[in-house]
Amino acid sequence: MSRTPHTRSYYAASAHDSPDRPCLAGPVDTDVCVIGGGFTGLSSALHLAEAGYNVVLLEAARIGFGASGRNGGQLVNSYSRDIDVIERAYGSELAGVLGNMAFEGAEIIRQRIQQYDIDCAYRQGGVFAAFNARQMHELKAQKKLWERYGHEQLTLLEQADIRDVVKTDVYCGGLLDMSGGHIHPLNLALGEAAALEELGGQIYEDSRVVAVERGNKVVVKTADGGLVRSQYVMIAGNAYLGNLIPELAAKTMPCGTQVVATEVLGEERARSLIPELYCIEDCNYKLDYYRITEDFRLLYGGGVTYGGGDPASIERFIRKKLETTFPQLRGVKIEYTWGGDFLLTLSRLPQFGRIGNNIYYAQGYSGHGVTTTHLAGKLIAEAIKGQAERFDAFASLKHFSFPGGRLFRAPYTAIGAVYYGLRDKLGI
Ligand SMILES: Cc1cc2nc3c(=O)[nH]c(=O)nc-3n(C[C@H](O)[C@H](O)[C@H](O)COP(=O)(O)OP(=O)(O)OC[C@H]3O[C@@H](n4cnc5c(N)ncnc54)[C@H](O)[C@@H]3O)c2cc1C
Repeated sequence: MSRTPHTRSYYAASAHDSPDRPCLAGPVDTDVCVIGGGFTGLSSALHLAEAGYNVVLLEAARIGFGASGRNGGQLVNSYSRDIDVIERAYGSELAGVLGNMAFEGAEIIRQRIQQYDIDCAYRQGGVFAAFNARQMHELKAQKKLWERYGHEQLTLLEQADIRDVVKTDVYCGGLLDMSGGHIHPLNLALGEAAALEELGGQIYEDSRVVAVERGNKVVVKTADGGLVRSQYVMIAGNAYLGNLIPELAAKTMPCGTQVVATEVLGEERARSLIPELYCIEDCNYKLDYYRITEDFRLLYGGGVTYGGGDPASIERFIRKKLETTFPQLRGVKIEYTWGGDFLLTLSRLPQFGRIGNNIYYAQGYSGHGVTTTHLAGKLIAEAIKGQAERFDAFASLKHFSFPGGRLFRAPYTAIGAVYYGLRDKLGI
């Protein structure tokens, strides 16, 4: 059987070798069946396998096929909506519990890299870059907020300082987080998959789940006649899940975002853009994110297409952003372009929960998922082991349907984004 290829990205072109994994054909019994081979699924599976559970992971395409193998590779701490928003909406007790976990995801990744010797080009240091006084004011507030939760590795960058960190005139300041950083995400996913298999976990690729039959033992069926009978199920399909679980699809919306990788610039030219090779994301509502890869290309992403999918020309769309940030790269050759989908919730807070008492889910990281997916896996393993307090703190966040229903939610949300985009432009 021919394998589903990865999207044609820089990551797929520079991925480490990985074995051909079988498609599930017959019946299997297990303790936990994980649906989806991105960071949420892999992190859950790995934590559970470490705890001694038998785990079967079913992936519709290939390990890292979805957002986890295509993203900007940035380890961004906290959540897509910060702890202050949770504090205002839910009070200080819940904010305290979630705030104490806001920096754990990146730590889990660093542990994984070390424990399993995963070669994924980890580099330390991430910058949030501000275009205007309003965004700078928000970064100062974010620094204070994170420090209240014990996160001390932050340095404010005034206008003169940010020019030392990123060689562009577009920013007026920023915030450097030395516990952020960046990775080759597909190689991290492949390394985690290999670690899972070393612990006895079974991975099936090209095994799309088409039915989840609820009960004391959940029965999971795949498109090619595979069947898993499992005590617990973990749903980790995120933006690629479609309508498999209708109640999950109702309160989320897939969104596309696009990335390019330039030709190899060489170390000197790369450091003439970002001397310390930190990753950068700006503070706009529809933000740009970029970093230098291990082989010294500029990898640049940005934009959001509500409802998912890509614009007609990713190169034209992203080149404009890239050359606005770095006019010195005008005309640079772009060697890879690709897009991927992330999953948005209305509140932009992640959606965790249970269906019955043995089907778990975590999804909807709303654009910042590299770290929170790793936290999610740990919390799901804790919950299945019987310590559900931290998982339940996330599960208590309320989620609502997007206005406009399935037909109009994308245009309605796009209109809302125009408002926020205007605020960013005007700095108000
Ligand atoms: C282009 C892009 C750039 C991004 N950049 C960043 C960034 O720099 N930093 C950051 O923090 N976040 C970033 N994100 C978000 C982040 O990548 C995601 O939040 C995160 O990877 C989600 O992981 P996941 O495992 O939940 O989902 P995914 O990685 O999408 O994995 C879901 C998997 O489930 C599989 N699946 C779906 N349905 C089924 C089924 N029925 N049966 C079996 N398998 C199924 C899919 O094939 C897929 O492999 C970015 C996202 C994109 C798209």
